[in-house]
Amino acid sequence: MYQQYQPGWLEVITGPMFAGKSEELIRRIRTLSYAKKSIVCFKPAIDDRYAKEEIASHAGNMWEAKAVKDVSEIKEFLKDKKYDIVGIDEVQFFNSKIVDVCEYLADKGVRVMVAGLDKDFRGEAFGVMPELLTKGEFVTKLTAVCAKCGSPATRTQRLVDGKPASFDDPVVLVGAVDHYEPRCRHCHEVVNKPIKIKRRTKSSQ
Ligand code: ZN
Repeated sequence: MYQQYQPGWLEVITGPMFAGKSEELIRRIRTLSYAKKSIVCFKPAIDDRYAKEEIASHAGNMWEAKAVKDVSEIKEFLKDKKYDIVGIDEVQFFNSKIVDVCEYLADKGVRVMVAGLDKDFRGEAFGVMPELLTKGEFVTKLTAVCAKCGSPATRTQRLVDGKPASFDDPVVLVGAVDHYEPRCRHCHEVVNKPIKIKRRTKSSQ
């Protein structure tokens, strides 16, 4: 894939939960490992759902990854080292400095592959993702299957104690049982979502 290009670019894999983002990242990394490329992967230390030092997919595949607290730890690790491939999973949890790191590495000839949620449970853009999606040369937007109607799912439904979460709910609700499932646009529910309808004016057309 993409062999004719000069080395160094940014690939972004995105979509809702259960769309196979980590799975796709692992697949690409594994393929490149057969080509004897030097590879390093990172993930935020907060994501320890499946494995501490691995990228893990819901489907059960894994690849070794350094769990890091923040972007500076990635920079520190990469100082004086040269890799062909840098992979980052759950990239939506890093702050905006991750964009500079991805850009710097891609400029230096590294193939940078990141995977992350494009939207939060409210259906709003997730942190740094819009900028990464803009800067990336290649974007793969995956869909899951809506748990309610079977359509392609582009959103992550959050259920708190079995009910749709409220727009104002904090990301972590102490004492509540959180559950997530993929949903399509039409079945995605957010309680108390502010309605933003812009009236078209002549000047905005
Ligand atoms: Zn649906």
